[in-house]
Amino acid sequence: MARALTVDLEDWFQVYNFSRVIPFCEWHSQEQRIVRNTQRLLDILDQHNTKATFFVLGWTAEHYPFLVKEIQARGHEIACHGYNHKPIFKMNRHEFKEDLEKAVNAIKKATGFVPKGFRAPSFSVRKDTLWALDVLKQKGFEYDSSMVPVSHPDYGIKGIPNKPFEIKGVKEYPISTSYGFPVGGGYFKAYPYWFTKFLLKQNRHAVFYIHPWEFDCKMPRYNLPLLKKFRHYIGLKSTEKKFRKLLKDFKFGRIDKLH
Ligand SMILES: [Zn+2]
Repeated sequence: MARALTVDLEDWFQVYNFSRVIPFCEWHSQEQRIVRNTQRLLDILDQHNTKATFFVLGWTAEHYPFLVKEIQARGHEIACHGYNHKPIFKMNRHEFKEDLEKAVNAIKKATGFVPKGFRAPSFSVRKDTLWALDVLKQKGFEYDSSMVPVSHPDYGIKGIPNKPFEIKGVKEYPISTSYGFPVGGGYFKAYPYWFTKFLLKQNRHAVFYIHPWEFDCKMPRYNLPLLKKFRHYIGLKSTEKKFRKLLKDFKFGRIDKLH
């Protein structure tokens, strides 16, 4: 097993694109769609006999512990996605430590286990936030999956390996690219399926990512700035069909079971 399937467990309004429109204090009053979307995703995974790593937001574990428990009971790995989806570059070391502790406690309360993997909100482990790896190591995390080997205004570190590597005593599973094109999430929604398939075939160590809301064409619509709107809403209707093809064409597994 070489390719990993990863899910960032968060609702449609918790992504960075919405952070200005729907601040943290308004999360409670939004239409909560995570339970049905995740259960639908879990059913698809079961139908294709596929296990994945779920990077769970601490807030989600606190509010929907039964959902996190169900994901675990259905054979998936539970890892950590921070507490309230704040990118690391918006925090100092102390704030990141606190955010991490809060998230780990919520996940531990829901599952009985301490997660050993981490993915930063919005892939925010960058050159200027590499200190986050020291904090992860200190807190006992064994791996991180937050780096992207591209240069993008919000994320990415150009020049890092495009396969798992060791950094500051932590194992890094970077988000995959092929020929500089990332695979997964908004890219998966935007590309035609054949292109994702082509890119994934080039990379034996691919780490693919998806969000439960990316299957949900009925989520509430907001008037975001044009590029953000494009990234969030494009291709929602065809994601499930493409995802089913993907699970037929490739064998994926949990990060902690890769070898
Ligand atoms: Zn996220």
